[in-house]
Amino acid sequence: MFNSLSDRLTATFKNLRGKGRLSEADVDATVREIRRALLEADVAVPVVREFTAIVKERALGAEVSEALNPGQQVVKIVNEELQNVLGGETRRINLAKTGPTVIMLAGLQGAGKTTLAGKLGKWLTDQGHKPVLVASDLQRPNAVTQLQVVGQRAGVPVFAPEPGATSEFDDPTGDPVKVARDGVDFARSKLYDVVIVDTAGRLGIDQALMNQARDIRDAVDPDEVLFVIDAMIGQDAVNTAKAFDEGVDFTGVVLSKLDGDARGGAALSVRAVTGKPIMFASTGEGVRDFEQFHPDRMASRILD
Ligand code: GDP
Repeated sequence: MFNSLSDRLTATFKNLRGKGRLSEADVDATVREIRRALLEADVAVPVVREFTAIVKERALGAEVSEALNPGQQVVKIVNEELQNVLGGETRRINLAKTGPTVIMLAGLQGAGKTTLAGKLGKWLTDQGHKPVLVASDLQRPNAVTQLQVVGQRAGVPVFAPEPGATSEFDDPTGDPVKVARDGVDFARSKLYDVVIVDTAGRLGIDQALMNQARDIRDAVDPDEVLFVIDAMIGQDAVNTAKAFDEGVDFTGVVLSKLDGDARGGAALSVRAVTGKPIMFASTGEGVRDFEQFHPDRMASRILD
């Protein structure tokens, strides 16, 4: 992830080494290379335009510095602006002051929601929380079973409608909104302090999916709605993110499959186009392949 972007930027900055003062032509050439590198990494065009305009303005206006040569100054500017585009400060999870914290997961089918439910559950358990996963994806055959397997692997219990069972919380009608609501009631009664609600995705954005996600959100009033997005989907990331933002007004983003050869465009575009923070990164299929997202560290990694 980010490898080719990282290589391109490093090569660009190499050309600035040993230069005294940067001429406008030097800055122009550098900014042109940065633009090309970002576009090749699948960063959304408006984001690239704004990013390069800011870098150019700052590079031209940079004070002569004792400590940094002009090339280093440009690197510093790009680093700071990358950090801005990635969200600035680390955004930590919002926990409810009373009652269970409700975290709802939304995103396209295959984005990595179910896998994330396990990872998030494990991560919260390691921090001393007592989470429960709720299987509100009743659309896809086997989704409930898949969540149960994920929960077992993560050591986190799963609340699911079991056909034919007799518990007061069971839901024979298979209504995902009711399952979500019952899951939260179950958590409250059993003193689980975090409820992670897995929801159905579709292969593409459609109104029925959005309506269902919104109904679930309205029913459980989540503290966080996390939009899970596959970092590999490139330019499509922007439209998908916008649609989910309008549909469910998510509070944070989780980038999944950052272990793949994603070029990084999604990471650099989603925050900019939705204004919502990237909170976590999923980096593999294992339950521990998961980390909190730190914009400053990610920016430094890109420029490493
Ligand atoms: P959902 O439909 O959104 O619930 O997506 P799933 O959690 O079922 O994930 C879809 C596929 O992507 C599964 O095969 C997962 O093992 C895989 N997957 C999920 N997250 C990651 C990740 O971070 N890295 C990789 N390499 N694979 C992932």
